[in-house]
Amino acid sequence: MKLEHIGIAVKSLENSNQLFKDLFNREHYKIERVESEHVNTSFFQVGESKIELLEATDPQSPIAKFIEKNGEGIHHLAFEVKDIDAELKRLSDLGYRLIHEQPKDGADNKRIAFLHPKSTNGVLVELCQEKA
Ligand code: ZN
Repeated sequence: MKLEHIGIAVKSLENSNQLFKDLFNREHYKIERVESEHVNTSFFQVGESKIELLEATDPQSPIAKFIEKNGEGIHHLAFEVKDIDAELKRLSDLGYRLIHEQPKDGADNKRIAFLHPKSTNGVLVELCQEKA
């Protein structure tokens, strides 16, 4: 497992792209809309890991609800695994609550699934696996 990326909820992708560009002194390498999650995302490479900025595309978006409740900020930690199906089964068998029983398509060419934060000390954890 490695920390693949940190997801940050932002109100404006455009404003935050500029902010993180200044911070890292480099451009984001991709912008991608994820219809199933109602988000626009952008990615910055930072060493071995990435920063994923998430902007809601409509009020039903989980990101819109998150910002309404908590304001902007860290939304989730994503860990890369070799076999996401096996990991979900293993964690489910251990009693972890899963938000997604089955992996779904995420941004950046990944299959993803979230664990419920009630199981993980209030931290929203994403598991991801690069698509073959
Ligand atoms: Zn993510």
